[in-house]
Amino acid sequence: MEEERKRIVFNQENEEDRVYSLSLRPSSLDEFVGQKDVVANLKVALEAAKHRNEPVEHMLFSGPPGLGKTSLANIVAHQMSARITVTSGPAIERAGDLIGILTNLEQGDILFIDEIHRLSKTVEEFLYPAMEGFKVDFIVDKGQFAKTINFSLKPFTLIGATTRSGLLASPLRDRFGLFYHLEFYEPQELKEIVLRSAKKLNVLMADDAALEIARRARGTPRIANRLFRRMRDYAQVKTGKAEVEINLVRNAMGTLGIDEYGLDELDRRLLKILHQQYKGGPVGIETLAATLNEETDTLVDVVEPFLLKIGFLRRTSRGREITEEAVKHIKKA
Ligand code: ADP
Repeated sequence: MEEERKRIVFNQENEEDRVYSLSLRPSSLDEFVGQKDVVANLKVALEAAKHRNEPVEHMLFSGPPGLGKTSLANIVAHQMSARITVTSGPAIERAGDLIGILTNLEQGDILFIDEIHRLSKTVEEFLYPAMEGFKVDFIVDKGQFAKTINFSLKPFTLIGATTRSGLLASPLRDRFGLFYHLEFYEPQELKEIVLRSAKKLNVLMADDAALEIARRARGTPRIANRLFRRMRDYAQVKTGKAEVEINLVRNAMGTLGIDEYGLDELDRRLLKILHQQYKGGPVGIETLAATLNEETDTLVDVVEPFLLKIGFLRRTSRGREITEEAVKHIKKA
């Protein structure tokens, strides 16, 4: 686990990302690059809610890590001039934790639950009446003394984020009014993000260098920003200046072991094992994870989506298969 957290092209947030998230996070929908349809639909929903003077409907953002779900939740809060409380599925361990959070919400507040698919069943059931009728019911005491206490909540907006909308129980899914699925970004969009970040951090970034970083960022803004910061470090050390140009990017990426598709050691190891040990597949994801000595969740959430997206991997009912494209690529590597 520790090893994988050090991956540069890992799309889950690390300590350094958190430090920079305040300065590099887009603060309005106009600053939010890409995801045109999501942004357009969201604008309408926010405008309409504002017009009615009501909290906006509960909404669910889905898509791989690092594509902007948390950023969007914060933007929604900002545009609605609402307070936001941020938590996550695994952080809410007991029903009491959730009730504490809910009863503290004010009219129009936003509750953001990241990784909402990881809420426990018992906690989740308390969320249903809270989402539907802004109330919580809970039972105190046992046996003949048991009584149900009924709490009214102030109307709020729940924003859920999930990397796996397929894992959401349908009663939970049905209680959301708005659904937005985020897709991987195009290199041109990531280039724009890199250029903006460079400007914010006072780094002189050449256009082609920004595109080169973007191409290797696995369609993911979080990775684009992280690669950008690494390039800034390289420039500082090699030239003593905050100036990034394309040759520096190419050399630095070589040193970091990140190829022109943004694949690193773990991706290549997965493809090689699939090709050599399993004759190209199909092979089950659990078996692959065991052979690689990685967690299945890491492969499913972090490694596989991008390999599927670039057509290096195919998912079939019998497991994962390697594609011709991928075989060509690993032979070249
Ligand atoms: P998620 O919640 O989906 O894991 P985040 O919202 O935390 O992703 O995004 C990770 C980082 O990527 C943000 O801090 C921000 O710097 C950057 N980012 C994400 N989406 C965009 C975007 N559309 N435009 C600009 N920067 C973005």
